[in-house]
This record gives sequence, structure tokens and C-alpha cells, in this order.
Amino acid sequence: VFAGVDVGGTKIEVAVVTAGMELVGVAQRPTNSTSPTHIVAGIADALTEACLVSHTAPLTVRRVGIGVPGQVDTAQGQVHLAVNLNLDHYPLAREVSTAFGVPCVLENDVRIAALGAWHYLWGRERHGRLAYFNLGTGISAGLVVDGNVMRGAHGMAGEIGHVVVEPNGELCACGLRGCLETVASGAAVTRQIEASGLMEILRGYGAETPRARYLYRAAQAGQPEAIALVRRVSRAIAMAIQWLVMAWDPQMVVLGGGLTRTGELFFAPVRAEMAVWRESSSLAATMLPDHKFALLPEAFNAGVWGAALLAMNDGSERQ
Ligand SMILES: [Zn+2]
Repeated sequence: VFAGVDVGGTKIEVAVVTAGMELVGVAQRPTNSTSPTHIVAGIADALTEACLVSHTAPLTVRRVGIGVPGQVDTAQGQVHLAVNLNLDHYPLAREVSTAFGVPCVLENDVRIAALGAWHYLWGRERHGRLAYFNLGTGISAGLVVDGNVMRGAHGMAGEIGHVVVEPNGELCACGLRGCLETVASGAAVTRQIEASGLMEILRGYGAETPRARYLYRAAQAGQPEAIALVRRVSRAIAMAIQWLVMAWDPQMVVLGGGLTRTGELFFAPVRAEMAVWRESSSLAATMLPDHKFALLPEAFNAGVWGAALLAMNDGSERQ
């Protein structure tokens, strides 16, 4: 058996799966990020419980895959920086290996989710190309080729949150102006709701905080300012999808992350942008057909499934 661990900002989730990808045990712990030692203990506890639940002796776990929200060095098993977890140059893989007694591999959470999306769509299929596009607080993509996640020469493959979509746009934390993240991330949507005075309007749609779901509801109800902002966000997302498709030519593009949680309310305006391109472009019609895109369902835990797949693949990158 293999184990997948998803270390989130609020909880640690673990799944134990067989080599045939049958789920045999799960466990959960709250994330205590006050110190790295607490995080390691939380992971080891959850792993032990998931083994107990699945009647598996911990030492029969071949490998543990761990997904972390931040920059990781998979080869060294080190977390370079995970702000939400208070981890800075921390050898998480080694520490969990020592605490739990089983080899561990580490990967960034979006790349893990890309592997999870692969499993969701294609199961144990070994051939194909999938792009996973994560729209959360930040934006990045994960690319999986023949079941292996692409990291790139410097571990930056898929970091498309910092490609420029509005050359004279808002200043991004990275120093550039108009990055995709300044327009279409969950944080950017919140900021634009506040800056545009839309918050007062969204209260009429049940909003107490400037969350994207109320923006989408208001747009669906025909509120003009909400429609304008949704169009701006959706156009930037559609452009990014087109880049992913043209650069990587995947069979499927799967979207996930907090911003996508409103489902079709979120996705219909993005689809509409691409439908307009298809009308006038045979290239767009060929490369961006509607059936190439899917949303990851909220109920599917891409984090633990992806981490289990990583463990199974040994965490190595074969190209
Ligand atoms: Zn940027």
C-alpha cells in the first residue's frame, strides 16, 4: 500500500491506498503550524490512524507522498518556503520518514492536485497529457505527461500566475504589472470587489464578505457591475487556458481551486469567451473544443489521491 498526505493550512488529510488505487483508509488532523515539529507529529499521527483504520501495519506502507502549499525541492525532500505552514528550508520528507519509519516524497500541492485530476479522469492510465489549472488564492498550473508531473528545469513549470495579461495593469507582488494573478486569482477578485465599490451591491445578494461566489450570483442575476467584473476575470482565465493548450497540447484541461467552487456559475462565462473565439477561428475551434475542459468536483479530494499517486510513481520525473 501507499499513503498520500495533503498538508493544508487548516488540516492534514491522509489516505492509504492499494497499488490498484483502492482506498482502504483515511484520517485527518488539524494543522498545527506553530512549529515544524507539530506539523511532523500531526502527519505521523494521521498516517498511523489511517493505517489502523485500514488494518495495515505501518511498515507495510511502501512510500508516503506529501503535498505542501509552497515551494519544494522534491529531490532534496525539502520545503523551501511554505508561508501558511511556517516552513522555511525545512527537510519535511526526512523528518516524516524518521517519525513514521517509511520513505517519503514531497511535492507542491498544485502539482499533486494535477496528479489527482489525472487519477479522477483517467485512473491508472499511463499515457496522455493533462493540464491542471488551479485558481485559488494564487494561480498556477500543473502539467502531467504519461502519469508524471512536469517540474521544469528550475521547478517553475506551470507558474503561469505571473504571465502578464494587462501590460499596464496592477502591480503584482512579483514586481511585474498586470500578472494573471492580479486579475483572476481569488485574492484579486476579492480586491477588485472592494476597490470597485461592488461590496455594497453584493450585500443585496447575501454577501457578508467580498467572496467570489456572491459576485457570480449577482452577475447571473444580471447586475451590470458584477457582469463587467466577471467578464474581465473570465477573459483572463480563458486566455490562460488558451496558452496552456497551445503550449502543451493536452488532451484535457482540468480546472480546480477555490474560485471554481461555484461550478458552472464560474465556468459558463469562461466557456462563453472561448465559444466566441471558435466562431471566427478554425484553429480555436480545433484546439479549444468545449469537451476538452472539465471542473474538478469539490467532493473529489485531489490532494490525497495525487499524493498517493506520487508515492506510487516514486516521485521521480520521467520524460
Ligand atoms: Zn506577478
